[in-house]
Amino acid sequence: MLAATDLGAALHGLCATRPPLRFAGKDGSATPPPAGATEKFVLVCAGGEEVEMVAMPAPGLDGAWSLCVSSQVGCRMGCTFCETGRMGLLRNLRVDEIVAQVAMAAHELKLRVGNVIFMGMGEPLDNVDNVICAIRILSDPAGLNVPLSHITVSTSGEAQHVYTLIAALPAVRVAFSLHAANEALRSQLMPINRRVSLAELAAAMRHYLELTKQRVTVQYVLLAGVNDSVAHARELAAFLSTIGPAARLHVNLIPYNPQSGPQPRYTTPSHADCKRFKEELVDAKLFVKIREAKGAEKMAACGQLGNIELRRELNRRREAALAYEDEKLAAAPAPVETAVALSCTALAW
Ligand code: SF4
Repeated sequence: MLAATDLGAALHGLCATRPPLRFAGKDGSATPPPAGATEKFVLVCAGGEEVEMVAMPAPGLDGAWSLCVSSQVGCRMGCTFCETGRMGLLRNLRVDEIVAQVAMAAHELKLRVGNVIFMGMGEPLDNVDNVICAIRILSDPAGLNVPLSHITVSTSGEAQHVYTLIAALPAVRVAFSLHAANEALRSQLMPINRRVSLAELAAAMRHYLELTKQRVTVQYVLLAGVNDSVAHARELAAFLSTIGPAARLHVNLIPYNPQSGPQPRYTTPSHADCKRFKEELVDAKLFVKIREAKGAEKMAACGQLGNIELRRELNRRREAALAYEDEKLAAAPAPVETAVALSCTALAW
């Protein structure tokens, strides 16, 4: 952990060397959300990219707020039910850009920070070094002093980085996004599963459970007709029984929050279907909560972060890169000409 003097020096260094970050509400202002409301804020980085942060009331923490922060501009994981996943990855956020989301919420919006949740834009463990460093600063008693037990990192399945994270910060909480408990369906919903299998993720979950003695939190987005049947619930319960005792497993069910655009790819299951899914898990003695959609009307709920401007910017960059490649190809000598030139050089020797 950084000493107070180190932290002061680090922050001073960041302020001295970085252009200021601007923090604005969606309407251009940065006013605190009304009590009890969920609000999305935009942090405008020095390069003009916008990342989003959501503030919502922290359950049971009497007036404090949970901040759902971003770790990347966009995301390369491509989960099919997620707005951010449609953007692709622009870049990782720097340490100061991650810390700024919390620091500015605390100082500009005057919010009392109860929890910090890395569940905004990006896969936090795809930017693991910066996330670890940011958490060290956020939890430092000389800084914002957010207890590690109130900081949660959510991962879509970067199993190898789970080991890195908990080796560095054993007290931090990790939430695992499963969304399906069989390899085929999970690969269809979450492309990361083609690279890191459910079996590898299960090993990382068991390691976390053994090493940290904490509860394992599992996230499961319910998509109507896709992964929400009784059979899927039983499959999930069977999978979790291989991870550890039911009493140490906590399942958050998240009814799908629709993406933007005229034809969202999935639909939200009915309340009755969500309840039926939950009951199957409860029968398996698991602790289960159906997460209430907060901020869905403002595109601030789970899986809804991202913005059209960033998607356009990403397309512009892709097109510029392709145009550059085309120019390079056009300028290069044709292979036959190159071969003739080389043989002429060889003859001249
Ligand atoms: S759910 Fe998370 S990991 Fe998956 S695409 Fe969205 S931001 Fe990335």
